[in-house]
Amino acid sequence: MKPVNILDTPIKYLKGVGPVRADLLKKELNIFTFNHLLNYFPFRYVDRSKFFKIQDINSDASYVQLKGNIKNIQKVGKPRAQRIVAYFEDETGTIELVWFKGLRWIINKFKPDEEYIVFGKPAYFNGKYNIPHPEIEAVSDGKINLGEKLQAFYSSTEKLKSKGLDSKGIGRIMKNLIVAVKDYIPETLSTDILENLKLIPGKESLLTVHFPGNQQILEKARARLKFEELFFIQLNLLKLKLLRIEKIKGHKFPVVGSFFNDFYNNNLPFDLTNAQKKVIKEIRADLGSGKQMNRLLQGDVGSGKTLVALMTMLIALDNNYQACIMAPTEILANQHYATVSKMLSGLGINTRLLTGSTKTSLRNEIHTQLQDGTLQILIGTHALIEETVKFKNLGLVVIDEQHRFGVAQRAKLWKKNVIPPHILVMTATPIPRTLAMTLYGDLDVSIIDEMPPGRKSIKTAHYYDKDRLKVFGFLKKQIKSSRQVYNVYPLINESEKLDLKDLMDGYESITRAFPLPEYAVSIVHGQKSSKEKDYEMQRFVKGETQLMVATTVIEVGVDIPNASVMVIENAERFGLSQLHQLRGRVGRGADQSYCILMTKDKLTNEARQRIQTMVRTTDGFEIAEADLKLRGPGDLQGTQQSGILDLKIADLIKDEKILKYSRKVAADILEEDPHLEMEKNIPVLNQLRYINKNKPNWSLIS
Ligand code: ADP
Ligand code: MG
Repeated sequence: MKPVNILDTPIKYLKGVGPVRADLLKKELNIFTFNHLLNYFPFRYVDRSKFFKIQDINSDASYVQLKGNIKNIQKVGKPRAQRIVAYFEDETGTIELVWFKGLRWIINKFKPDEEYIVFGKPAYFNGKYNIPHPEIEAVSDGKINLGEKLQAFYSSTEKLKSKGLDSKGIGRIMKNLIVAVKDYIPETLSTDILENLKLIPGKESLLTVHFPGNQQILEKARARLKFEELFFIQLNLLKLKLLRIEKIKGHKFPVVGSFFNDFYNNNLPFDLTNAQKKVIKEIRADLGSGKQMNRLLQGDVGSGKTLVALMTMLIALDNNYQACIMAPTEILANQHYATVSKMLSGLGINTRLLTGSTKTSLRNEIHTQLQDGTLQILIGTHALIEETVKFKNLGLVVIDEQHRFGVAQRAKLWKKNVIPPHILVMTATPIPRTLAMTLYGDLDVSIIDEMPPGRKSIKTAHYYDKDRLKVFGFLKKQIKSSRQVYNVYPLINESEKLDLKDLMDGYESITRAFPLPEYAVSIVHGQKSSKEKDYEMQRFVKGETQLMVATTVIEVGVDIPNASVMVIENAERFGLSQLHQLRGRVGRGADQSYCILMTKDKLTNEARQRIQTMVRTTDGFEIAEADLKLRGPGDLQGTQQSGILDLKIADLIKDEKILKYSRKVAADILEEDPHLEMEKNIPVLNQLRYINKNKPNWSLIS
């Protein structure tokens, strides 16, 4: 029997925790075991050996430590809103300390001639600084342990604080934890890695990160832990890739035949861009290799990814296999279906659409045709993953994903065949390199870095709501020269009545400003049935309506070249990648296109930066980087569910360098020792197993 790992001990058994706190730790912080707590890292450190002068306090100071006397302490305010204010003074000035709670206890505690050390976070109020609820100790108490210079701060929650687990409380149980596990913390990296990269041992880094001696050793500890975290992610991804190459046979598509050639010679309405050609070559090489393809196709909005996907599918058909495209929304699936059917017209290819709203009779027909092999290309939504959807011989899956399909869902599609199909993942928006390396680190990457010729760069402008009349005037001019206009409203939550009201109000004011019979307006939103949405879309596609008022349902993929103006309402409420997606709906024809960002007058700093970024650049990669910097990876659309980005200490923005070399180190190790069988790699193998035991996401794959 394997020895029980003390690190897996349930958290309630830790001294100072017990069942009640354990419950809260689980619910609030996902801390179930000793190991989880050990890996719950401080988010900040404050140097308690340094004293601030009152006159130096400014808005940059987060926490300050002061030394001085209390001159006066008093209750102020009306009985119901009472607070205590103490006037604290050092040789440079005076600052107010303020308490809103525990009033009686405080007022009798402090003596005027005693010297105190005050510690807290200054707040700016009514033109001056104060420190609400500071920590305060008399110097003569000697309680303040100045030997422990760097104090760690843990984030906590209201509920945890109410049970004594504020930052300090967490620090206390952390101390107990260290005592309990100190002798059982394994080294997870090989001696080779430690020596080559000059990293400090794992145990030392864990002890240090919670109870740092000084700044230098803390930096070393954090660097080691960041490396470790990113290294094991990369090792897992690369191992996954290796395993696939070794174990999984792929369909071999040796020929390019008449479907592909007929399309290329007769149906292709334009020349491929060089970037498209390059990417198709890369894909061809994969498909002919006998290995399973797992490729990520990146390219900016409008760069022509769909066409690449289509031609890839034709290669599958040429080799007598079926192919499918899975899209994240029904509208997008419809759109793909329309585009693909049109492009393939005359080639005699049986292409069908399957979504949540496909009628049962039709669905049954599709199921039958899939199984007898007469259906060649299937286009649809998540509906494709359902168990009941069975193919005769599925050779290729295209996932148009915008990070909406998790790793696990990708895995499901593989199981649709004895030999798993080739997989082509298309991202609808560019993603920053670091994020791609982490989210899709197991895939090969192809990039379309060139737009089809003749595209004019979209002009983007920012207007405030009060300039609406001017904007309407501009729209009228555009419509006069036969252009069409999108007018998009945010709908953060499709059931939110308020959002819908915004949209309906907007629709009304638009129909008033653009009245029949001169103008006609389409409207699409989440409360409409698919049929209604489709009808409205079709009217717009055919040019029967000049304006399309819509929610973000049109966000991805919709392709109407004659629509050359995109007006985004409440633009401050959209994230950058969404704004970029929306803007990408125009600029698809040869005409000059425009994107108008409407906002209210007052913007938060972050919103202003988003708007400015959009006005400044149309480069999707630059926007993606800006987005990551502004919001952090956790908030990027859909990334949460992947679980991979649940980073404890590393930061995909700041630690790009560490990420890159962690990938390199992982690759080198696997090259030398693909199965991690060498003696020196035992610690790495053990840790990899330990991590994967607790991560269902990964095990689904291998
Ligand atoms: P995305 O990469 O955003 O999915 P699409 O595949 O929707 O882009 O392509 C955008 C538009 O560009 C479509 O109207 C498509 O027909 C057109 N297109 C694609 N490739 C070319 C090309 N090589 N030359 C001209 N137009 C192209
Ligand atoms: Mg697309």
